Amino acid sequence: MIEMFEEWYKSRHEYAKEWKDKTGGKVMGFFCTYVPEEILLAANVLPVRILGSHEPQNVTEPHIFGMYCPFCRDCLAQGLLGRYDYLDGMMIAQSCLHIRQAFTSWKKHMPPEFTYYLPMPHQVQSPRSIPFLRSELETFKGAVEQWVGKEITDADLDRGIELMNASRQAMRDLYDTRKSANSPMTGLEAMYAAASNQWIDKAEHTAAVREALAKELVGRDLGLGDKTRLMILGSEDDDTAFVNMVEGCGSVIVTDDHCTGSRYFWNQVEPEEDRLLAIAKRYINRPACPTKDWPQRTRLEHVRMLAQEWNVAGAIIIQQKFCDPHELDIPEQRKSLGEIGVPTLFLELDVTVPVGQFKIRVEAFLEMLAEEDLF
Ligand code: SF4
Repeated sequence: MIEMFEEWYKSRHEYAKEWKDKTGGKVMGFFCTYVPEEILLAANVLPVRILGSHEPQNVTEPHIFGMYCPFCRDCLAQGLLGRYDYLDGMMIAQSCLHIRQAFTSWKKHMPPEFTYYLPMPHQVQSPRSIPFLRSELETFKGAVEQWVGKEITDADLDRGIELMNASRQAMRDLYDTRKSANSPMTGLEAMYAAASNQWIDKAEHTAAVREALAKELVGRDLGLGDKTRLMILGSEDDDTAFVNMVEGCGSVIVTDDHCTGSRYFWNQVEPEEDRLLAIAKRYINRPACPTKDWPQRTRLEHVRMLAQEWNVAGAIIIQQKFCDPHELDIPEQRKSLGEIGVPTLFLELDVTVPVGQFKIRVEAFLEMLAEEDLF
Protein backbone atom coordinates (compact mmCIF):
# COMPACT_ATOMS: atom_id res chain seq x y z
CA MET A 1 0.00 0.00 0.00
CA ILE A 2 2.85 2.39 0.77
CA GLU A 3 3.98 2.10 -2.88
CA MET A 4 0.45 2.92 -3.98
CA PHE A 5 0.83 6.52 -2.77
CA GLU A 6 3.82 7.02 -5.05
CA GLU A 7 1.96 5.45 -7.94
CA TRP A 8 -1.01 7.77 -7.30
CA TYR A 9 1.31 10.76 -7.07
CA LYS A 10 2.78 9.95 -10.47
CA SER A 11 -0.43 8.98 -12.26
CA ARG A 12 -2.75 11.74 -11.03
CA HIS A 13 -4.19 12.56 -14.46
CA GLU A 14 -4.75 8.95 -15.49
CA TYR A 15 -6.46 8.33 -12.15
CA ALA A 16 -8.89 11.24 -12.57
CA LYS A 17 -9.71 10.29 -16.15
CA GLU A 18 -10.39 6.69 -15.13
CA TRP A 19 -12.50 7.90 -12.20
CA LYS A 20 -14.60 9.95 -14.63
CA ASP A 21 -15.04 7.01 -17.00
CA LYS A 22 -15.97 4.70 -14.15
CA THR A 23 -18.38 6.96 -12.29
CA GLY A 24 -19.60 9.40 -14.93
CA GLY A 25 -19.00 12.09 -12.30
CA LYS A 26 -17.55 15.57 -12.57
CA VAL A 27 -14.02 16.56 -11.62
CA MET A 28 -13.25 19.91 -9.98
CA GLY A 29 -9.70 21.23 -10.09
CA PHE A 30 -8.90 23.45 -7.13
CA PHE A 31 -6.18 25.86 -6.11
CA CYS A 32 -5.45 26.27 -2.41
CA THR A 33 -6.38 24.16 0.59
CA TYR A 34 -9.03 26.61 1.79
CA VAL A 35 -11.46 25.11 -0.75
CA PRO A 36 -14.27 23.35 1.21
CA GLU A 37 -14.07 19.90 -0.33
CA GLU A 38 -16.90 18.69 1.92
CA ILE A 39 -19.40 20.46 -0.35
CA LEU A 40 -17.86 18.99 -3.50
CA LEU A 41 -17.91 15.49 -2.05
CA ALA A 42 -21.52 16.03 -0.99
CA ALA A 43 -22.28 16.64 -4.69
CA ASN A 44 -20.33 13.50 -5.72
CA VAL A 45 -17.70 15.66 -7.43
CA LEU A 46 -14.05 14.57 -7.33
CA PRO A 47 -11.88 17.43 -6.01
CA VAL A 48 -8.42 17.44 -7.60
CA ARG A 49 -5.74 19.79 -6.27
CA ILE A 50 -3.89 21.49 -9.09
CA LEU A 51 -0.14 21.24 -8.61
CA GLY A 52 2.88 21.80 -10.82
CA SER A 53 5.12 19.22 -12.44
CA HIS A 54 8.56 20.63 -11.50
CA GLU A 55 9.67 20.73 -15.12
CA PRO A 56 11.08 23.79 -16.88
CA GLN A 57 8.41 25.45 -19.03
CA ASN A 58 8.14 28.45 -21.36
CA VAL A 59 4.38 28.91 -21.70
CA THR A 60 3.39 31.19 -18.80
CA GLU A 61 5.48 34.25 -19.60
CA PRO A 62 2.74 36.08 -21.57
CA HIS A 63 0.13 35.36 -18.89
CA ILE A 64 1.65 35.79 -15.46
CA PHE A 65 4.14 38.22 -14.00
CA GLY A 66 7.66 36.74 -13.90
CA MET A 67 8.09 37.76 -10.27
CA TYR A 68 5.17 35.68 -9.11
CA CYS A 69 6.10 32.47 -7.33
CA PRO A 70 7.33 29.54 -9.40
CA PHE A 71 4.63 27.35 -7.87
CA CYS A 72 1.76 29.42 -9.30
CA ARG A 73 3.51 29.63 -12.69
CA ASP A 74 4.08 25.86 -12.70
CA CYS A 75 0.39 25.29 -11.89
CA LEU A 76 -0.73 27.57 -14.71
CA ALA A 77 1.70 25.87 -17.09
CA GLN A 78 -0.08 22.56 -16.47
CA GLY A 79 -3.32 24.13 -17.67
CA LEU A 80 -1.73 25.81 -20.69
CA LEU A 81 -0.09 22.51 -21.63
CA GLY A 82 -3.48 20.78 -21.51
CA ARG A 83 -2.57 18.33 -18.76
CA TYR A 84 -5.77 19.03 -16.85
CA ASP A 85 -8.00 19.01 -19.93
CA TYR A 86 -10.36 16.56 -18.25
CA LEU A 87 -11.51 19.08 -15.60
CA ASP A 88 -15.22 19.94 -15.62
CA GLY A 89 -14.78 22.72 -13.11
CA MET A 90 -12.08 24.80 -11.53
CA MET A 91 -12.10 26.92 -8.39
CA ILE A 92 -10.07 28.83 -5.86
CA ALA A 93 -10.60 30.03 -2.33
CA GLN A 94 -8.86 33.35 -1.85
CA SER A 95 -5.40 32.86 -0.43
CA CYS A 96 -2.60 34.85 -2.08
CA LEU A 97 -2.45 37.05 -5.17
CA HIS A 98 0.04 34.80 -6.93
CA ILE A 99 -2.11 31.71 -7.08
CA ARG A 100 -5.17 33.84 -7.77
CA GLN A 101 -3.45 35.12 -10.89
CA ALA A 102 -2.90 31.52 -12.01
CA PHE A 103 -6.63 30.89 -11.48
CA THR A 104 -7.69 34.06 -13.31
CA SER A 105 -5.46 33.37 -16.28
CA TRP A 106 -6.57 29.72 -16.46
CA LYS A 107 -10.20 30.80 -16.36
CA LYS A 108 -9.62 33.31 -19.15
CA HIS A 109 -7.70 31.07 -21.50
CA MET A 110 -8.99 27.55 -20.78
CA PRO A 111 -12.36 27.93 -19.07
CA PRO A 112 -13.96 24.63 -18.09
CA GLU A 113 -17.79 24.46 -17.90
CA PHE A 114 -17.84 25.73 -14.29
CA THR A 115 -15.51 28.12 -12.47
CA TYR A 116 -15.84 29.59 -9.00
CA TYR A 117 -14.02 32.15 -6.90
CA LEU A 118 -14.73 31.67 -3.20
CA PRO A 119 -14.04 34.81 -1.15
CA MET A 120 -12.37 33.13 1.81
CA PRO A 121 -11.76 35.93 4.34
CA HIS A 122 -8.25 37.03 5.09
CA GLN A 123 -8.90 38.28 8.58
CA VAL A 124 -9.85 34.91 10.01
CA GLN A 125 -9.34 36.26 13.53
CA SER A 126 -12.26 38.68 13.15
CA PRO A 127 -15.49 37.61 14.92
CA ARG A 128 -17.27 38.31 11.63
CA SER A 129 -15.21 35.80 9.64
CA ILE A 130 -17.26 32.70 10.56
CA PRO A 131 -20.71 34.14 9.69
CA PHE A 132 -19.20 35.69 6.56
CA LEU A 133 -17.75 32.39 5.38
CA ARG A 134 -20.91 30.50 6.31
CA SER A 135 -22.89 32.77 4.05
CA GLU A 136 -20.34 32.39 1.23
CA LEU A 137 -20.55 28.60 1.61
CA GLU A 138 -24.33 28.82 1.21
CA THR A 139 -23.86 30.72 -2.06
CA PHE A 140 -21.21 28.27 -3.19
CA LYS A 141 -23.43 25.29 -2.37
CA GLY A 142 -26.20 26.84 -4.48
CA ALA A 143 -23.81 27.30 -7.42
CA VAL A 144 -22.63 23.69 -7.19
CA GLU A 145 -26.26 22.47 -7.03
CA GLN A 146 -27.02 24.36 -10.22
CA TRP A 147 -23.89 22.99 -11.89
CA VAL A 148 -24.53 19.33 -11.06
CA GLY A 149 -28.30 19.68 -11.39
CA LYS A 150 -29.06 18.20 -8.00
CA GLU A 151 -29.92 19.48 -4.54
CA ILE A 152 -27.30 18.94 -1.84
CA THR A 153 -29.16 17.71 1.22
CA ASP A 154 -28.07 17.63 4.86
CA ALA A 155 -27.45 13.90 4.45
CA ASP A 156 -25.16 14.67 1.48
CA LEU A 157 -23.28 17.25 3.55
CA ASP A 158 -22.93 14.74 6.39
CA ARG A 159 -21.40 12.28 3.92
CA GLY A 160 -18.96 14.94 2.66
CA ILE A 161 -17.98 15.88 6.20
CA GLU A 162 -17.53 12.25 7.24
CA LEU A 163 -15.33 11.49 4.22
CA MET A 164 -13.09 14.48 4.88
CA ASN A 165 -12.91 13.87 8.62
CA ALA A 166 -12.08 10.17 8.17
CA SER A 167 -9.36 11.09 5.70
CA ARG A 168 -7.92 13.73 8.02
CA GLN A 169 -7.90 11.36 10.99
CA ALA A 170 -6.18 8.64 8.95
CA MET A 171 -3.49 11.11 7.83
CA ARG A 172 -3.01 12.33 11.41
CA ASP A 173 -2.57 8.71 12.52
CA LEU A 174 -0.08 8.16 9.70
CA TYR A 175 1.93 11.21 10.75
CA ASP A 176 1.78 10.05 14.38
CA THR A 177 3.74 6.89 13.50
CA ARG A 178 6.63 9.21 12.61
CA LYS A 179 6.89 10.36 16.22
CA SER A 180 8.59 7.04 16.92
CA ALA A 181 12.38 7.24 17.47
CA ASN A 182 12.68 4.84 14.53
CA SER A 183 10.12 6.23 12.09
CA PRO A 184 8.51 3.41 10.08
CA MET A 185 8.31 5.61 7.00
CA THR A 186 10.49 8.09 5.20
CA GLY A 187 9.58 11.71 4.63
CA LEU A 188 9.37 10.97 0.92
CA GLU A 189 6.79 8.23 1.50
CA ALA A 190 4.82 10.59 3.73
CA MET A 191 4.96 13.27 1.04
CA TYR A 192 3.54 10.87 -1.55
CA ALA A 193 0.73 9.94 0.88
CA ALA A 194 -0.10 13.55 1.83
CA ALA A 195 0.01 14.94 -1.71
CA SER A 196 -1.93 12.12 -3.39
CA ASN A 197 -4.62 12.56 -0.74
CA GLN A 198 -5.46 15.81 -2.54
CA TRP A 199 -6.70 14.18 -5.74
CA ILE A 200 -7.52 10.54 -5.03
CA ASP A 201 -11.08 9.54 -4.15
CA LYS A 202 -11.20 10.17 -0.39
CA ALA A 203 -12.68 6.80 0.62
CA GLU A 204 -10.12 4.94 -1.47
CA HIS A 205 -7.21 6.94 -0.09
CA THR A 206 -8.39 6.56 3.50
CA ALA A 207 -8.72 2.79 3.06
CA ALA A 208 -5.14 2.68 1.73
CA VAL A 209 -3.81 4.68 4.69
CA ARG A 210 -5.71 2.47 7.14
CA GLU A 211 -4.36 -0.67 5.49
CA ALA A 212 -0.79 0.68 5.59
CA LEU A 213 -1.24 1.51 9.28
CA ALA A 214 -2.66 -1.90 10.13
CA LYS A 215 -0.39 -4.09 8.03
CA GLU A 216 2.76 -2.47 6.72
CA LEU A 217 3.86 0.07 9.25
CA VAL A 218 3.58 -2.05 12.39
CA GLY A 219 7.12 -3.09 13.29
CA ARG A 220 8.53 -1.79 9.97
CA ASP A 221 12.23 -1.07 10.40
CA LEU A 222 13.89 1.03 7.72
CA GLY A 223 16.89 1.74 9.92
CA LEU A 224 15.92 5.39 10.34
CA GLY A 225 16.53 5.43 14.11
CA ASP A 226 20.02 6.92 13.80
CA LYS A 227 19.15 9.54 11.17
CA THR A 228 18.88 13.23 12.04
CA ARG A 229 15.23 14.13 12.54
CA LEU A 230 14.10 17.13 10.52
CA MET A 231 10.94 19.02 9.76
CA ILE A 232 10.08 21.06 6.67
CA LEU A 233 8.02 24.19 6.78
CA GLY A 234 7.21 27.15 4.60
CA SER A 235 5.72 27.57 1.15
CA GLU A 236 4.03 24.81 -0.82
CA ASP A 237 6.37 21.85 -1.28
CA ASP A 238 5.70 18.66 -3.17
CA ASP A 239 9.20 18.53 -4.58
CA THR A 240 10.01 14.85 -4.17
CA ALA A 241 13.51 15.17 -5.71
CA PHE A 242 14.35 17.74 -3.05
CA VAL A 243 13.04 15.58 -0.19
CA ASN A 244 14.85 12.56 -1.58
CA MET A 245 18.10 14.53 -1.65
CA VAL A 246 17.66 15.79 1.94
CA GLU A 247 17.00 12.29 3.23
CA GLY A 248 19.86 10.91 1.15
CA CYS A 249 22.22 13.12 3.17
CA GLY A 250 21.56 11.15 6.37
CA SER A 251 18.34 12.64 7.70
CA VAL A 252 14.72 11.66 7.99
CA ILE A 253 11.94 14.18 7.65
CA VAL A 254 9.41 13.38 10.33
CA THR A 255 6.87 16.19 10.05
CA ASP A 256 6.03 19.37 8.16
CA ASP A 257 3.96 22.51 8.04
CA HIS A 258 3.11 23.49 4.50
CA CYS A 259 0.02 23.42 2.35
CA THR A 260 0.69 20.13 0.56
CA GLY A 261 1.47 18.53 3.90
CA SER A 262 -0.05 18.63 7.37
CA ARG A 263 -1.74 22.01 6.94
CA TYR A 264 -4.11 20.34 4.47
CA PHE A 265 -5.52 17.74 6.83
CA TRP A 266 -4.79 19.02 10.33
CA ASN A 267 -8.15 19.77 11.92
CA GLN A 268 -11.60 18.26 11.68
CA VAL A 269 -15.08 19.62 11.09
CA GLU A 270 -16.88 19.37 14.45
CA PRO A 271 -20.39 18.24 13.41
CA GLU A 272 -23.32 20.44 14.40
CA GLU A 273 -26.89 20.96 13.24
CA ASP A 274 -25.94 23.81 10.91
CA ARG A 275 -23.59 21.88 8.62
CA LEU A 276 -22.33 24.92 6.71
CA LEU A 277 -21.53 26.69 9.96
CA ALA A 278 -19.57 23.65 11.12
CA ILE A 279 -17.60 23.63 7.85
CA ALA A 280 -16.98 27.38 8.04
CA LYS A 281 -15.59 27.03 11.57
CA ARG A 282 -13.18 24.34 10.43
CA TYR A 283 -11.66 26.44 7.65
CA ILE A 284 -11.48 29.58 9.79
CA ASN A 285 -9.84 27.72 12.68
CA ARG A 286 -7.43 25.50 10.75
CA PRO A 287 -3.67 26.09 11.02
CA ALA A 288 -3.37 29.33 9.13
CA CYS A 289 -1.54 30.08 5.93
CA PRO A 290 0.68 33.15 6.55
CA THR A 291 -1.66 35.18 4.33
CA LYS A 292 -4.23 34.91 7.10
CA ASP A 293 -2.14 34.76 10.25
CA TRP A 294 -2.66 38.22 11.67
CA PRO A 295 -2.86 40.26 13.86
CA GLN A 296 -2.02 37.40 16.27
CA ARG A 297 0.77 35.07 15.05
CA THR A 298 -0.85 31.68 15.71
CA ARG A 299 1.45 29.79 13.36
CA LEU A 300 4.48 30.21 15.59
CA GLU A 301 2.99 28.20 18.42
CA HIS A 302 1.64 25.53 16.06
CA VAL A 303 5.03 25.03 14.40
CA ARG A 304 6.78 24.87 17.78
CA MET A 305 4.32 22.21 18.87
CA LEU A 306 5.10 20.15 15.75
CA ALA A 307 8.84 20.51 16.30
CA GLN A 308 8.57 19.42 19.92
CA GLU A 309 6.05 16.60 19.57
CA TRP A 310 7.90 15.09 16.61
CA ASN A 311 11.19 15.72 18.40
CA VAL A 312 13.10 17.31 15.54
CA ALA A 313 16.77 18.27 15.70
CA GLY A 314 16.42 20.94 13.02
CA ALA A 315 14.04 22.51 10.54
CA ILE A 316 14.43 23.28 6.86
CA ILE A 317 12.47 26.38 5.98
CA ILE A 318 11.67 26.56 2.33
CA GLN A 319 10.32 29.50 0.43
CA GLN A 320 9.08 29.41 -3.11
CA LYS A 321 11.03 32.21 -4.77
CA PHE A 322 9.02 35.49 -4.55
CA CYS A 323 6.48 33.98 -2.13
CA ASP A 324 5.63 37.14 -0.18
CA PRO A 325 3.40 35.56 2.48
CA HIS A 326 6.10 33.17 3.60
CA GLU A 327 8.84 35.73 3.21
CA LEU A 328 7.11 37.71 5.94
CA ASP A 329 6.55 34.63 8.07
CA ILE A 330 10.06 33.20 7.95
CA PRO A 331 12.09 35.61 10.17
CA GLU A 332 9.66 35.11 13.07
CA GLN A 333 9.59 31.34 12.53
CA ARG A 334 13.39 31.18 12.65
CA LYS A 335 13.45 33.23 15.84
CA SER A 336 10.66 31.23 17.44
CA LEU A 337 12.23 27.85 16.65
CA GLY A 338 15.64 29.14 17.76
CA GLU A 339 14.14 29.95 21.17
CA ILE A 340 13.30 26.28 21.69
CA GLY A 341 16.69 25.13 20.44
CA VAL A 342 15.69 24.08 16.92
CA PRO A 343 18.22 25.42 14.39
CA THR A 344 16.93 26.26 10.92
CA LEU A 345 18.23 26.18 7.38
CA PHE A 346 16.61 28.50 4.86
CA LEU A 347 16.38 27.45 1.21
CA GLU A 348 14.65 29.14 -1.69
CA LEU A 349 12.87 26.80 -4.11
CA ASP A 350 12.28 27.33 -7.81
CA VAL A 351 10.36 25.17 -10.30
CA THR A 352 13.41 22.95 -10.50
CA VAL A 353 15.79 22.68 -7.59
CA PRO A 354 19.60 23.02 -7.87
CA VAL A 355 20.05 19.70 -6.10
CA GLY A 356 23.88 19.81 -6.13
CA GLN A 357 24.08 23.27 -4.53
CA PHE A 358 21.39 22.49 -1.98
CA LYS A 359 23.01 19.19 -1.11
CA ILE A 360 26.17 20.99 0.04
CA ARG A 361 24.11 23.30 2.24
CA VAL A 362 22.02 20.46 3.67
CA GLU A 363 25.14 18.43 4.43
CA ALA A 364 26.71 21.42 6.20
CA PHE A 365 23.50 21.91 8.21
CA LEU A 366 23.42 18.24 9.23
CA GLU A 367 27.09 18.43 10.21
CA MET A 368 26.36 21.47 12.37
CA LEU A 369 23.47 19.61 14.04
CA ALA A 370 25.71 16.60 14.70
CA GLU A 371 28.29 18.87 16.36
CA GLU A 372 25.61 20.44 18.53
CA ASP A 373 24.67 16.93 19.55
CA LEU A 374 28.25 16.16 20.61
CA PHE A 375 28.72 19.19 22.83
S1 SF4 B 1 1.43 31.30 -0.63
FE1 SF4 B 1 3.45 31.54 -1.59
S2 SF4 B 1 3.88 29.54 -2.57
FE2 SF4 B 1 1.68 29.61 -2.14
S3 SF4 B 1 0.85 30.35 -4.06
FE3 SF4 B 1 1.14 32.14 -2.69
S4 SF4 B 1 3.13 32.99 -3.25
FE4 SF4 B 1 3.01 30.91 -4.11
